[in-house]
Amino acid sequence: MEPKKFGLNDIVEMKKQHPCGTNKWKIIRMGADVRIKCEGCQHSVMIPRREFEKKMKKVLISASEA
Ligand SMILES: [Zn+2]
Repeated sequence: MEPKKFGLNDIVEMKKQHPCGTNKWKIIRMGADVRIKCEGCQHSVMIPRREFEKKMKKVLISASEA
C-alpha cells in the first residue's frame, strides 16, 4: 500500500464519521499534530500526525491537485 499523501486544505474522509453524520474533514493545520475541521458542524479536532494517518481513509479533494 502506498503511503497516503495529504496536505493543507485537503478534504479528507476518516474511517469513522463524526457523530454529526458528516464524514468530510478539512485539514486546517499541518505539523507534528494535524488539525481537521468537520465540514458539517465546523467542530475541529487536533490529532497527532501518526494517528491521523491511521484514521484517515482517503483524500476526497486534494487542494494541491485542484
Ligand atoms: Zn461534525
